[in-house]
Amino acid sequence: MMLKAVYTDTDDLDPTAGIERLTAAGFEVLYLQTHDAEEIVAAAADADALLLGYAPITSGMLAKMEKLQIISLLSTGYDNIDISAATALEICVSNIGATSAEEVAIHALALTLSITRGIETYREVSARREWFKTPYPFIPPRLSTKKIGVVGFGNIGSQFAKIAQPLFESVSFYDPMIMLGVVINGIESKSLDNLLEDSDVISLHLPLLPETHHLFNEKTFAKMKKSSVIINVSRGGLIDPAALVRALDSGQLSAAGLDVLESEPPAIDDPLLTHSRVLITPHVAFLSEYSMSAYIEVQAENILQWFSGKEVKNCVNGIKVKK
Ligand code: NAD
Repeated sequence: MMLKAVYTDTDDLDPTAGIERLTAAGFEVLYLQTHDAEEIVAAAADADALLLGYAPITSGMLAKMEKLQIISLLSTGYDNIDISAATALEICVSNIGATSAEEVAIHALALTLSITRGIETYREVSARREWFKTPYPFIPPRLSTKKIGVVGFGNIGSQFAKIAQPLFESVSFYDPMIMLGVVINGIESKSLDNLLEDSDVISLHLPLLPETHHLFNEKTFAKMKKSSVIINVSRGGLIDPAALVRALDSGQLSAAGLDVLESEPPAIDDPLLTHSRVLITPHVAFLSEYSMSAYIEVQAENILQWFSGKEVKNCVNGIKVKK
C-alpha cells in the first residue's frame, strides 16, 4: 500500500524538492501550509509520516494520527512537539541536525560584534550626518580583554566558541553533559554560576525544554556581570522577557542581541522590539542560500531513511525502526 506523507507548514521555504523526492520514492504527499490543529489532524489521520515546520503538535493530536511512524522537523529545535508523548507512542522525531550550525554560530557572532562595536549607534549617527559627534555616544570595549560564556556546547555552541575564540580574551562554556573543568581546544567547561559571574558576553545555544524554560530570569540576570551582554539565537522561551527588560533598564545588562522571542511573531507592542538596548533580528539566524534548500532536502531524507529501514541519524528521541 502507498505510504502517505503530510507536510504541515514550511513557512517561506519552498518544499518542491522534498515533495518531488518523496513522490519519486512512491509516497502520496499532501502539503497543507497550516498551523491549525484540526486541519493537520484531518489530513494526517491516516498518514505514515509528518513533515513539520513550526506548527505545534500536542499529545491529543498524536493520539488521533494512529499510523504515524515519524515526524521530521524543518528545524533543530523540537520544542513545538510533545516529545514525551511521541516517544511513548514510539514515533521517531527527527530534526535537521547540524545543517545550519555554521549560519547560526556566525549570526550569534554578528550580533555580538555589532553590539560590542556599537554598529547600530554609529549607523544612526552617520544617518543624522553627525559625522564627528563628540562626546562619543558609545565607546567600545577592547574585545581582547573581554570574556565570552557559551551556554550549551553542542553543534552550534561549539562552532560559535571556535570562531569567537581568536577575538576575545577567553571563551568558556557550560553544558550539563560535559564534566566541569574539561578543556576542549582551549575552551574550558565551567559551572553555570561561574560562567555567569565571569563573562562579559553570554551566548545561549541550548534547547528549549521544560527544565530550560525561563532559565534566564531575574535571579540569573542578577548573577551576571554588571553591564554584560546576552545573545540569544536559540529559543525565546529560554529568557523571561519581562525580567530581561528590567535587567536592561536597570543597567544590570548593557545590551541584548536576540534572533528569537518567546512568542513569534511577537505582539505589536512587545517592548523588546523597540528597546534601545536590544539588537533584534526576526528568527533568521539559520538563513542562507545553502540552508534554504538543505533544510528541505534533509527533512525529506530523514523520512526516506526511516522507511528504507535505516537508522535515522537525526532522530532526537532514540526511536528505532522495528525490524
Ligand atoms: P545540539 O543538540 O547540538 O546542542 C545543544 C546543547 O545544549 C547540547 O550539548 C546539550 O547537552 C546542551 N544542553 C542541554 N540542556 C542544557 C542546559 N540546561 N544548559 C546548558 N546546556 C544544555 O543543538 P544545536 O544544533 O547546537 O542547537 C541549539 C539550539 O539552537 C536548538 O535547540 C535550537 O533551538 C536553536 N536553533 C536556532 C536557530 C535559529 O534560526 N535561530 C537555528 C537552529 C537552531
